[in-house]
Amino acid sequence: MRVAMGDSILGGVAIGPLRFYRRRKNTLAEVSSDLTAAEEWDRFEQAREKSLEQLSALYEKALEQVGETDAAIFEIHQVMLGDENYLDSVRSILETQGVTAERAAAVTGDNLAAVFADMDDSYMKARSADVQDISRRVVNNLIGAGEEDLPWEEPSILVAEDLTPSETVRMDRSRLLGFITHHGSAHSHAAILARTMNIPALVGVEVDERWEGHLAVLDGHNGCVYVDPAPELLEAMAARQQGDRKRDSLLSGLKRKPNVTLDGASVEICANIGSIGDVGLALENDAGGIGLLRSEFLYLDAAEAPSESEQFAVYRRVAETLAGKKVVIRTLDVGADKQAACFPSEHEANPALGMRGIRFCLEHRDIFKEQLRAILRASAYGTVAVMFPMVTSVREVRDAKEVLEECREELLQRGTVLGEIEVGIMVETPAAALIAEELAPEVDFFSLGTNDLTQYVLAIDRQNPKLAPFYNAQHAAVMQLIRLTVEAGHRHGCWVGICGDLGADPTLAEAFLRMGVDELSVPPAAVLPLRQKIRGMDLSQKKG
Ligand code: PEP
Ligand code: MG
Repeated sequence: MRVAMGDSILGGVAIGPLRFYRRRKNTLAEVSSDLTAAEEWDRFEQAREKSLEQLSALYEKALEQVGETDAAIFEIHQVMLGDENYLDSVRSILETQGVTAERAAAVTGDNLAAVFADMDDSYMKARSADVQDISRRVVNNLIGAGEEDLPWEEPSILVAEDLTPSETVRMDRSRLLGFITHHGSAHSHAAILARTMNIPALVGVEVDERWEGHLAVLDGHNGCVYVDPAPELLEAMAARQQGDRKRDSLLSGLKRKPNVTLDGASVEICANIGSIGDVGLALENDAGGIGLLRSEFLYLDAAEAPSESEQFAVYRRVAETLAGKKVVIRTLDVGADKQAACFPSEHEANPALGMRGIRFCLEHRDIFKEQLRAILRASAYGTVAVMFPMVTSVREVRDAKEVLEECREELLQRGTVLGEIEVGIMVETPAAALIAEELAPEVDFFSLGTNDLTQYVLAIDRQNPKLAPFYNAQHAAVMQLIRLTVEAGHRHGCWVGICGDLGADPTLAEAFLRMGVDELSVPPAAVLPLRQKIRGMDLSQKKG
């Protein structure tokens, strides 16, 4: 048995033979042309027209398979085919070099791909594969080569150097169990499409030609491929695959369905994430966005606090991957049970009541500003919101907003492009819930942190397992504070969500919808079960 590692795109298992997919190399026999440059340009234009038609058909196919957001790449490809720089380059090669249209298109594709690949920006780097994809299509149309198909009949795990978005969508799913590529990032369009199409896949794997035809297990949960797996492993992975399938078939019917009750009330269901790896889970479970990004994960194990640019890279990646869906980034919430080695803390007798959340950030402005600038910069790459934790007073919110404004000014002076950003707070202290009426005019949204709210309302240390019998998050006092917060928020035009664990409790979903909660943000795996629950509810019926 041999084992290779890669970056997982989807947490699923595929078992089957490995087959190499090698893209046909179009050696362009005819390089110099007997035709005039104008005649070659006409040939190019006809092939371009045909390519545009194919891309529009691919868009329709992708729309059916993966939905509008992910299908959009084929619209982008159509736009790229009309890009002036692209067309000018083809035209100038034809006019100055006397070559065929296929040669001019191929050279243009290679040149632009090399330019994109050399850029520092990871988004632009990924565009290199796109420009190659469109040029290959035009060349194939010019030389009359049909679209490439999978050269095998038996369902197999595809192995390739890389895959383009159109190859990913075009492939016959009945013969494709999963794929493994050497190149490509987990954020490429091909990867995003594979994820949405529910194809287990790994990228960044050191593939070996000698694997051809060998049995393998692709384990997307752990990012491993096992070639010639040991019998016990094969058995365990087959069982895991069965389990995944059962769950998937139950829930996949719910993907891309709205969170609407039988009588038409709706709620947003988002995901809470605590690491970059959770982003894939949020997408896989069809979350409406990220309702809580616990940014502490960047700090907790770090020897030094992450810099503005390190944080920006992470937030931007999340925002881009979410492709326009909202991402609520909670500012640093260290202290209490979350001690970060990079901020040695003084001993506190009652750390849960100590220097934590927004208090810590307001006391350490440099650290706070570093994070806020990173969040503001990421706002240009998606729909980003910022949220302050552990608020107890209007003063804290105003101070935090003032620091945010300072950061915005600094960035604008640097000439940085910024997007719109919503500002919200966590309501997780009794004080915040009780003065929600005064806090609401300061912000765009509230998110109820019921874990801390329960701890502070009931005076129960959430860390102490011995107190579990007394920890009742459904306590009437907690529920009343939630109701009060929702009502106060709505009176001032704020949307109100719940991101504490209580939001994922299916037995409370009806009560929350009746209160008018706008969003439930829950662990990724809880999104679809909650959707199932909500779609079966009827709020027009009296409470049972
Ligand atoms: C909460 O307190 O409910 C919450 C969501 O924040 P955390 O659990 O990270 O403290
Ligand atoms: Mg909390």
